[in-house]
Amino acid sequence: MLLTRASPTFLPSTSAASPSPQAPPAPIFGRSHRRGVVQLVSSCSPVAGQRSGSAARRSVMAAAGAVPAAKLEDADALIDSVETFIFDCDGVIWKGDKLIDGVPETLDMLRSKGKRLVFVTNNSTKSRKQYGKKFETLGLNVNEEEIFASSFAAAAYLQSIDFPKDKKVYVIGEDGILKELELAGFQYLGGPSDGDKKIELKPGFYMEHDKDVGAVVVGFDRYFNYYKVQYGTLCIRENPGCLFIATNRDAVTHLTDAQEWAGGGSMVGAILGSTKQEPLVVGKPSTFMMDYLAKKFGITTSQICMVGDRLDTDILFGQNGGCKTLLVLSGVTSVQMLQSPDNSIQPDFYTNQISDFLTLKAATV
Ligand SMILES: [Mg+2]
Repeated sequence: MLLTRASPTFLPSTSAASPSPQAPPAPIFGRSHRRGVVQLVSSCSPVAGQRSGSAARRSVMAAAGAVPAAKLEDADALIDSVETFIFDCDGVIWKGDKLIDGVPETLDMLRSKGKRLVFVTNNSTKSRKQYGKKFETLGLNVNEEEIFASSFAAAAYLQSIDFPKDKKVYVIGEDGILKELELAGFQYLGGPSDGDKKIELKPGFYMEHDKDVGAVVVGFDRYFNYYKVQYGTLCIRENPGCLFIATNRDAVTHLTDAQEWAGGGSMVGAILGSTKQEPLVVGKPSTFMMDYLAKKFGITTSQICMVGDRLDTDILFGQNGGCKTLLVLSGVTSVQMLQSPDNSIQPDFYTNQISDFLTLKAATV
């Protein structure tokens, strides 16, 4: 399917909001792209109710224009107010390979009420099909069409700008990106097969690169190396109009439950460092996937509730898209982090985990 968008919108993540020291070259094909500015404060409707916290916190919130999040008390009111729920996966549906308590029953209840469910992840290591298998393994009945990973977003973005089929994509990342590019009919090189390549410097050594590469896609890559940095850099710096696309810029990821690990942002940062060019981000918090979903399902974003465990990706993604937002505390964000004076990203609501939907009812009058 060819996605056509007259003016694709993508927003750099919070940390990418500063202008590039060097303007990117114009694309060599099709429609040009434009960049927006991330909205750093909540654009959601004010919520009434419990307002706890220190005066300092309130003053920071006021200065940032954000209304402190309300603890979710009446789940039915929230459920009835939207037609679609978008769920982040890690920290919301599962943690690593373990399902979070009460998730199957909660999803069943939402489906029984006729709600559309969509699952969005910034993890680009798997394709939609591979994620479908993970859901199945965990005993969840989720259709491939309901899953949107940033690997898919990279391919969908290239389709949206009519990226020429005779051009190639150089991939710094894992198998998921290759599979999605292949499904979309794009030519690619790189990926895991460049994982064991080494640079042996000898006098006069010159690295050749493919002049037909028109885009470099960078995602999380456990086999990242200097060969890939140099190859991607040559393509972006020397091929006229070559795009630099990031699946996400997450600072950390959770490869094991023992500690935080350097995320996709570290690979993107290396290419940014050598090219001095800001990437086009297609994963959260960029609105590209939100716009895609709204168009695909024909829904207005005010009828969506974004549910996630991260403020700077999930909640910002929902707010950038004009959705209602719910933070769950079952992942990386604690209530202390949410209420810290240093945090200006406030969801509409927060709660412990999504199974609270089953128990939080309005108080009987
Ligand atoms: Mg998460």
